[in-house]
Amino acid sequence: MGLIVQKYGGSSVADAEGIKRVANRIVAAKRDGNQVVVVVSAMGDTTDELIDLAEQITPIPQGRELDMLLTAGERISMALLAMAINNLGHEASSFTGSQAGVITTSAHGRARIIDVTPGRIKEALDSGAIAIVAGFQGISQDTKDVTTLGRGGSDTTAVALAAALDADVCEIYTDVDGVFSADPRVVPSAKKLKTVTYDEMLELAASGAKVLHLRCVEYARRYNLPIHVRSSFSNNEGTWVVKDHPEGGAMEQAIISGIAHDKSEAKITIVGVPDRTGVAARIFQAIADADINIDMIVQNVSAAATGLTDISFTLPKAEGAEATSILQKLQGEVGFASIQYDDQIGKLSLVGAGMRSHPGVTATFFGALSDAGINIEMISTSEIRISVICRAADLERGAKAAHTAFELDADQNEAVVYGGSGR
Ligand code: ASP
Ligand code: MG
Repeated sequence: MGLIVQKYGGSSVADAEGIKRVANRIVAAKRDGNQVVVVVSAMGDTTDELIDLAEQITPIPQGRELDMLLTAGERISMALLAMAINNLGHEASSFTGSQAGVITTSAHGRARIIDVTPGRIKEALDSGAIAIVAGFQGISQDTKDVTTLGRGGSDTTAVALAAALDADVCEIYTDVDGVFSADPRVVPSAKKLKTVTYDEMLELAASGAKVLHLRCVEYARRYNLPIHVRSSFSNNEGTWVVKDHPEGGAMEQAIISGIAHDKSEAKITIVGVPDRTGVAARIFQAIADADINIDMIVQNVSAAATGLTDISFTLPKAEGAEATSILQKLQGEVGFASIQYDDQIGKLSLVGAGMRSHPGVTATFFGALSDAGINIEMISTSEIRISVICRAADLERGAKAAHTAFELDADQNEAVVYGGSGR
């Protein structure tokens, strides 16, 4: 008998039919002799709709109240799912994140899990019940307020619970058959990956692939917990996220495992920055103090005549307004000329462990972009990733061109998108 943690995303439980279908799958896992813990997201686009609603009330909702509002989405789906399972003659109880022992920091909208104390979940399992847990939420250790882990955070709830319960596997159910070589909504010829390593998945998630939440992969890697990403709409074997590609697979292992694209970032350029020691530190300290995450940075060579340079960096669009206002306050002290804000950028990233041992990846990538007439504005790399910034309007074309250039296109269409609005 094993312990399985399953997570169902919003598109898998979008309506009553979906909830009943998922309930049947859960009961089947239980009948197979497993103890089952289920983490569930809010139904369909509920979270987006609640955000829209809040924005109709106020342009800047208070973090505490927004979290209180958004966590209601998961409470709806968890209760309905427990009812559907009860209806099938099995015992199930639902728990909020707080009841499930998900203890977090107090940063509303982006809380981090500090600890998981799943006493009540263990009790439910010991009594023979299926435990249903609301995803993406917890309770702050300090303030005791309800918090959320950031968009897509239910994956992280599932893996954190799986680690705390020492589960055998964490199954992430979604509306596609696994992790693909690119987002099938953008690159229809994308291939399903049999395996992807934690390191590759971390880079893909950090580069905008939405299939798994970044923190969830960090957690899984830390606890060496296998994740099986699969569809709740089919019985196909999905993608295994594991430490290493299986032995022997390395020979056929493609150089590039996946391509991610991201339209959620904006670029800020600080024009005419005095090229003096300590200036960049001052600027980025102020940004860091506001807990704003920056991604790529480029500093130009300063013009000899003026001793002035430009610094550009990218950051989540959602944090653009705050960063801009922080910088404006620094303008007098640092003495730069102006700030430019550009939210029409896209980021395209290639990820693959095979990159380490294959030269020429950058040349092939840039060649494909150039053939497609796409201009590169910024570049950043890691050992197993190359990312570029281009115009947002060119992004999807760039993803297709790179996918073809690295011979990733599937022979026949493998990528079925079963549900979801991709919102
Ligand atoms: N319902 C939340 C969201 O849409 C959390 C999740 O789906 O994982 O972001
Ligand atoms: Mg969702």
